Amino acid sequence: VSDKWLQCTNCGATYDLADPKFFGCPKCSTETKRWPVEVMYDYDAIAKRLGSSPFPEERASIWRFADLLPVREKKNIVTLDEGGTPLTRIDSFSIPLYVKNETLNPTWSFKDRFNTVNISMARELGYDKVVSLTSGNAGAAIAAYASIAGLRALIMCHDQVPPLLYNAIQIYGAEVVIATKYGAQDLIVRLVQEHGWYPSIQMPVLYVAVPYGVEGYKTIGYEIALQCKDSPPDYVFAPIGGGDGLYGMYKAYKEFMLLGLVEKMPRFCGCQITGADPVVRAYREGSREQVRRDPVPTRAISIRAPISGDHCLSAIYDSGGLAIGVTEEETVEAVKTAAKGGIFAELASAVSIAGAVKAVQQGDVSAESKIVCLVTAAGVKWPEVLATMVPEPPRIAATMDELSAVVEL
Ligand SMILES: [Zn+2]
Repeated sequence: VSDKWLQCTNCGATYDLADPKFFGCPKCSTETKRWPVEVMYDYDAIAKRLGSSPFPEERASIWRFADLLPVREKKNIVTLDEGGTPLTRIDSFSIPLYVKNETLNPTWSFKDRFNTVNISMARELGYDKVVSLTSGNAGAAIAAYASIAGLRALIMCHDQVPPLLYNAIQIYGAEVVIATKYGAQDLIVRLVQEHGWYPSIQMPVLYVAVPYGVEGYKTIGYEIALQCKDSPPDYVFAPIGGGDGLYGMYKAYKEFMLLGLVEKMPRFCGCQITGADPVVRAYREGSREQVRRDPVPTRAISIRAPISGDHCLSAIYDSGGLAIGVTEEETVEAVKTAAKGGIFAELASAVSIAGAVKAVQQGDVSAESKIVCLVTAAGVKWPEVLATMVPEPPRIAATMDELSAVVEL
């Protein structure tokens, strides 16, 4: 009997860990609705194995949690010592916020956690090439991990990806094409089905999905739980694109409860930009069904999705959390104020902060609560967006006269 396997999130059918069901559970999926499979574990066996001193800190990377990750053979692990990011209190807002600062990962986003696991699994399953579609952050992470794994990587960038990011993806050694987003999904299906490529794409099945990477996001939740051992958070706010990040943290807490490592979980709250907010709309109607809709244009392209996964909506309801929409203007303010607290988040990441501030202002969340905000990626990766938030500095000849004309001495 195996201690790790795959299980359908709808009908419960089980599959071998090495049988990833990229197109969803074949037993219950239909033409219009495909159900993802996810990795499950024998928690009783893990609890026995962990003993009294689980998760040694001498391993800085997320692989200190290897018992709760899908890779079987240590030799297949591809790591850049990702994870282990700080939980930093910032006081630049009217309420104290704790920022889980994922900008400090090797490619400056939480996608490193997904890809250290997913690319390690590609190696374990014997693939030699990996493909994805990206708004930027995922592509950089995939490219870096595929390179050190010795795998070929093809990254299709959607046409709003800035030059900095598509060039960064190339410097890590990946092949890049720039394609319109929704047609490119169909190409990925064909590359996976007909040409033997391994997908590095989120867990919910839209056209094609992979169940392993979300397990890497669990490690954000494990780390928050360990970092807050003496004073657990009441709320965790997270940006939602596909929804894997929020779901991963929720699953982490569920597992830690099963293992007797924490007593309760925080309320998980999902944040989206108004007009690109399928989860917020469903939450407002009390529904578990999202409606697919073309999202409005936004500079927060990392989370601009026509529909997110059902799994993150379930995590919000089951944890007693909420979903909240924020405007792009509110999010720009959050970026600026967080930066005054020393943390420069990308616009899409800062929806978690904007959402937390708004939830407190509206009275949905008590100002006395301990609030953690997940900041998923760094602002420096988006120079064009940054340039829209600050003025062009004055240029002068270096004389006192000219200096005193533009600044107060
Ligand atoms: Zn099923």
